[in-house]
Amino acid sequence: MAMTPSQRTLLKNIGYLVTMDPERRVLRNAWLLAEDGVICSVGTGPAPRVAKATVVDARGGIALPGLINTHHHMFQNLARAFEPIASLPLLPWLAGHMPLWRHFNPDDLYVATQVACAELMLSGCTLTSDHHYLFPRDGSAGMLDAGFNAAAAMGIRYVGCRGSVNLPSDIMPDWACQDLDVILADCQRLHDRFHQRGAGAMSQVAFAPCTVFGCSGEHYRQSARLGRSLGVRLHTHCGETIPENQDAVKVLGSRPFPYMARHEWEGEDVWLAHGIHFNDREVARLTKTRTGVAHCPCSNMRLGSGVCRVNDLRRGGSPVSLGVDGSASNDSGHLLNEARLALLLTRVVHGAEAMTPEASLEMATLDGARNLGRLADLGSLEPGKCADVAVFPLEDLFSNGAHNPVHGLVLCHARQVDTLLVHGQVRVREGQLVGVDLPKLLAKHRKVARRYHDGAVK
Ligand SMILES: [Zn+2]
Repeated sequence: MAMTPSQRTLLKNIGYLVTMDPERRVLRNAWLLAEDGVICSVGTGPAPRVAKATVVDARGGIALPGLINTHHHMFQNLARAFEPIASLPLLPWLAGHMPLWRHFNPDDLYVATQVACAELMLSGCTLTSDHHYLFPRDGSAGMLDAGFNAAAAMGIRYVGCRGSVNLPSDIMPDWACQDLDVILADCQRLHDRFHQRGAGAMSQVAFAPCTVFGCSGEHYRQSARLGRSLGVRLHTHCGETIPENQDAVKVLGSRPFPYMARHEWEGEDVWLAHGIHFNDREVARLTKTRTGVAHCPCSNMRLGSGVCRVNDLRRGGSPVSLGVDGSASNDSGHLLNEARLALLLTRVVHGAEAMTPEASLEMATLDGARNLGRLADLGSLEPGKCADVAVFPLEDLFSNGAHNPVHGLVLCHARQVDTLLVHGQVRVREGQLVGVDLPKLLAKHRKVARRYHDGAVK
C-alpha cells in the first residue's frame, strides 16, 4: 500500500509565541513545527533542520493560537451600512432588513460568505461559526450548504449554525418561517452531510433557533434533543436587549433565558449570543450549568444594546468568547478588533483594572474553543493541538515601538495578520490570502450587494 508522505510546516523566527498553555507562557525567539496539521513541537532558539518541510519565516512577528469567532451572520455582508436602518435599535433594525433579505439565494450567499471568511482570516481567525437563520418557507435548499462550500474553498474551519424560525411575528414575516418538522429534517440532513467528528474537524454543524420570539418552546426542546442525540452543539440569541426581555415577559410569561432553560436549552453544550441583560439569578444559573456566551462588543455598541456581564460570567465558570456578529451590525468582521473592544467596553463600565489584555486574548482563543467544543484540539499552541496559528506583524505603523508587543495587539489599533496557518496549511502569507483573488472577489460582492440595494431601496 502506498504511504502518503507526511506534510511538515515549520514556522521559524517567531518574535513572541503566545502559547495560551496552562502556564500562559510567552516564548521569545521561538519556532513551531507541525506535521499533518498537528503541532509536534515548539521551542526557542535556532529552528531545527527539517527535511521536506514548508518553512515560513515569521519575521519576528507575534504568533497566537488562531482566533475563534463564535457569532456571525455572514449573509449580512450584503447589508453593510444599509442606510434605512443606520441608526435604529435591534428590533426595528431587524425588521428594516427584510425587504433586502427577502430574495437572497445560495449563489449570492456563497460570495458573501467568502468575503466574510476573507475578512476574518486576515484578522487572525482560523475557526468561525456562522449563524444562518434566513430560510424562506418556499424553498431553503442550499442556503447553508453554500456557506459550508464557501468556507471550505477559503480554507477556514467552519461551524454552520442551522438557524430557524417557526413563528411569524412583527419582525420575522411568514415567508421567513418554516414548520418545525422541516427544520428538524434539514438539521439532520446538514449533520449527515457536513458534520465531521473528532480532532481536526474542518466542518461542523450546530443547531440554532433564532430567538424566543421566532421559535416555540417545543422548537427549542426538539432541537436540543436532536442535537444531543447527534453530539451537536446548540446556539441561539439571548438577552440582547431590554425590550426583548420585557416582550418575552408579556408574551411568554417569562424572561428569555429561564424560558429556554425550561425547554432544555442550557448546559456546557449551549452557547448564547450576546447574553447582555441577565439578572443575578440568571447569571448564577448560567455559571452553575457552564452555559457559554458569545460576547459581541462592536455590535452591542453599534445597536446601543448594552454591556455584557463578562467578568461575572467568567468568574463563575461560564466561557465568554468573542463574536463579530453579523456584518449589518458591526459592520465589519475584524476579530482581533473585537478583543480590543471587549477590553475597552468592559473598562468603560468597570474601570481600567476590570480586564487585562491577556484576558481578552483568552476570550478570543481558549473560551472560543470551549464554546465550540474544541478545547481538546484548538485554542492554544501546544504539541498535540492543531497548527492553527495567526502571526501578527511586530513592526507596523500602529504598534511601532510598543513596550509589550503582546499587550499592543489589543491596546493598539487592530492589525491584519502577516501569516495564517489553518491545520498547518499556509492560508495567508505576507498579508495576502493564498490562492484567493481578493480584488476579483470584492468586485463580485459589490455587484451582488448593489443588486439587492437597488431592489430594496426605491
Ligand atoms: Zn446575531
